[in-house]
Amino acid sequence: MATQAPDHVTGPQQIPARLAQREPSSIFAPWPDRLRSSALILLVAGLVLAALAIFGELQAARAVAAFVCIACAALVPWRLHNVDASSPEALGGNPVEAPAVSAMVAGMPDPSMLLDRAGRVIHLNAAAAQLAPALRKNELAQFALRSPEIITALRQAISTLEPQRVSFHDHGPVDRWMELSIAPVTVPTMFGGKDTCMLMTFHDQTPLRRIEEMRADFVANASHELRTPLAALSGFIDTLQGPARDDPKARDRFLGIMHAQATRMARLIDDLLSLSRVELSAHVRPNAQVDLIPIIRQVADGLEVLAKERQVKIETELPDGPAMIAGDREELLRLFENLIENALKYGASGGRVIVALTTASAPEGTPEIQVRVRDFGPGIPPEHLPRLTERFYRVSVGDSRAQGGTGLGLSLVKHILNRHRGRLVIESVPQEGATFTACFPQARASAAQ
Ligand code: ADP
Repeated sequence: MATQAPDHVTGPQQIPARLAQREPSSIFAPWPDRLRSSALILLVAGLVLAALAIFGELQAARAVAAFVCIACAALVPWRLHNVDASSPEALGGNPVEAPAVSAMVAGMPDPSMLLDRAGRVIHLNAAAAQLAPALRKNELAQFALRSPEIITALRQAISTLEPQRVSFHDHGPVDRWMELSIAPVTVPTMFGGKDTCMLMTFHDQTPLRRIEEMRADFVANASHELRTPLAALSGFIDTLQGPARDDPKARDRFLGIMHAQATRMARLIDDLLSLSRVELSAHVRPNAQVDLIPIIRQVADGLEVLAKERQVKIETELPDGPAMIAGDREELLRLFENLIENALKYGASGGRVIVALTTASAPEGTPEIQVRVRDFGPGIPPEHLPRLTERFYRVSVGDSRAQGGTGLGLSLVKHILNRHRGRLVIESVPQEGATFTACFPQARASAAQ
């Protein structure tokens, strides 16, 4: 989003422009006060000495010598005062208003500002002005930055001249976690001197914090998912060692349940490992040329047993020729396995699952291969559709567990498609079934050959 910097923000070009904007009200108006007084003294002295010389009261050479002495007396202290570089009046602003310093602050990517040792703002960039719109040049920064953490850190930095780093929570219209670093820096002044200023830089830590929160949620969810079958397993072990020790019927039944729970745990660990593998290689696009048709056939054939068990017929509508994409065979097997297995598990009541491959145009007009997995089961209520690919998200946790689900299948599908630079489209009309379409960019003819 393009944002415009307010007028008071210093950009690299702004100092000459600001000086040029001043409208002098008199001949001396644009001059600093002390220089203006000196010029007035010189003018008066010049006129008096000239009059005395004209009326013969003073020799011309003496008059000139007297004028030079008066000029030195008037101008030298003014010059010394400015070489000292401590006067904020020089040129009407802070002596640190050197274009190079200003350009450096303006060019910093994070919100940044330079303060003098009194805590007054000398320069600030557009990002800082956006972060704290009340900041004004030549005003104390603490008036605009009211957070006690910032003020304490700034006081500390000014008094000790040691760098400071502080984190704080910014309760603005959007809650943010910010980190502020204050570094004392020595900057050149306009008249060849040096001054120590405070460089304040803010870093937005919110995205990092969000990732940390997501990671913590993920670990909590994964532990919870693993603990459930583990608790069941240890419960049955206790029963088999105790009350059911001599009951062969109960033992067989419990062993069956334990087997199912152990399988679920193994599947969950498998899915977690696959997910982390795909995430690790997310930025590397697979480059092997693979034909999707035999992959889809292999998955459909492998799921025939499950389909028979659920009394569902798998119908494939695949073209005769190859359908080449740049892909990873193992990941694609996993992707279609998840989609077709979900259709068999959750859409079993429809009795049919159609797997069709077609070529079409992506919304941006590029050719793509679309593999549609359609079932005729109960479908998915629309409010769940946007969240289906989140890890551990399920429409009904009980249903998913009963089907041996982990809640990770569609998340894995999404990540595999991302790695293949593809996309997943989910459509569903409740009571009429669900359609999951995996779209892949089509391999260029030359690459496919
Ligand atoms: P799970 O391991 O629970 O199957 P998935 O990530 O594969 O996890 O699916 C997430 C949820 O999406 C499932 O729990 C289920 O509620 C819903 N879902 C997935 N596919 C279908 C489908 N074809 N019909 C209805 N609901 C589905």
